[in-house]
Amino acid sequence: MKQVDLHTHTTASDGTFSPSENIQRAIAKGLNGIAITDHDTIDGIEEALFEANKHEGFECVPGIEISTLYNGQDIHVLGFYIDYKNQAFLSKLKELASVRNKRNKMILQKLNELGIHIHESELEDKRHGEGNVGRGHIAEILMEKGVVNSLPEAFDKYLGKGKAAFAITERISPIEAIQIIRDANGVPVLAHPGIYDADELIPELCENGLVGLECCHPDHTIEQVTHYKKLAEDYSLIKTAGSDFHGFRNGEVFHGDLGSCSVPINVLEKLKNKRK
Ligand SMILES: [Zn+2]
Ligand SMILES: [Zn+2]
Repeated sequence: MKQVDLHTHTTASDGTFSPSENIQRAIAKGLNGIAITDHDTIDGIEEALFEANKHEGFECVPGIEISTLYNGQDIHVLGFYIDYKNQAFLSKLKELASVRNKRNKMILQKLNELGIHIHESELEDKRHGEGNVGRGHIAEILMEKGVVNSLPEAFDKYLGKGKAAFAITERISPIEAIQIIRDANGVPVLAHPGIYDADELIPELCENGLVGLECCHPDHTIEQVTHYKKLAEDYSLIKTAGSDFHGFRNGEVFHGDLGSCSVPINVLEKLKNKRK
């Protein structure tokens, strides 16, 4: 059956593959479509669509993954089929980028206090074009400097929630993210619910326009996949799946490889039908 992977990152945020390379790898893996869902940026979409158009029968979904805050937790909201040229949407993303840069500064400051010196320009060097930089890039620098041996170690010791250099800034709420996505004619889906402790949020988001739930994600246990599929049924949400592919750093894949979580291609029709 034809399958699509609805969660992938590129060099426009903290992935290591260019948008074209994501498409090419997806085709090599036998997928029939992927969504490009970079953190708070649409910068990779045009290149990805251009590449996808060269391959008949392959569909690239223009998407985004918006970082939000709810009760001190980092909550990610995916948006599919967004109108990525919508001016109001683009100016919202600019605001989000300035918050992200503020958070990066706070993290670097904390690392500095721990005796780990990373200059802002080192982080800037990781930026591709108009894309953004974040914790994934800081983790990469920590590896390059030999402070840690792996990405998971960087998050376990420094960058993960509650760890030594963790920082959190004021952020929009998941409900606001849903609104931003809907205003850009997109379809909002809650990303990887299994990595939060916030199931009570799901009914509230449904009342505010949530359309889908990412039931299958590499960080979910089999029990969680079953649990979220059941919740999706209960709340009439579309069940999505994605690998959260970020490419490779030091030969390691972060989250999953392309296609490690996927859904049948007919899910795309269901999502499209939910556009305004
Ligand atoms: Zn995420
Ligand atoms: Zn992601």
